[in-house]
Amino acid sequence: MNATIKNVRDILEQVVDPEIPVLTIADLGILQDVGWNEGRLQVVITPTYSGCPAMHAIEHDIAAVLRENGYENVEVKTQLSPAWTTDWLSESGREKLLQYGIVPPLGSADKQSLRIVAASLECPRCRSDNTEKISEFGSTPCKALYKCNDCLEPFDYFKCI
Ligand SMILES: [Zn+2]
Repeated sequence: MNATIKNVRDILEQVVDPEIPVLTIADLGILQDVGWNEGRLQVVITPTYSGCPAMHAIEHDIAAVLRENGYENVEVKTQLSPAWTTDWLSESGREKLLQYGIVPPLGSADKQSLRIVAASLECPRCRSDNTEKISEFGSTPCKALYKCNDCLEPFDYFKCI
């Protein structure tokens, strides 16, 4: 990796998920590649959820933050295949989610393991496993809403996809 590409990747650490501002695009695993293409700086990303409105904000933020740092000729390219899954979330991203009060996806995107694990989610606040699912959809379609029966706080679960 040359110095410019490293610099660009450092700058892109400032770009976060508008819905979960503790997660950078690198934490999310959506930042695929940074490189040069015929004199233009090309940033390749894979969107998380199709139709997720946050993705447009992220594309815009990538171009804006690079422009602020002197990179004028920037192309943000979207790569749809292979499709993003929650397996691409980084370890540090999962820890940040938990500290933010959202339970990170447990297991892999394998639906069978999801169903088993999701039956015994641990409350991110008090660590109780006496929790129940309230709704399949939390604040966004990417999350399910749970409630802790011990501390009585609701919390989001970042669903596996
Ligand atoms: Zn609790």
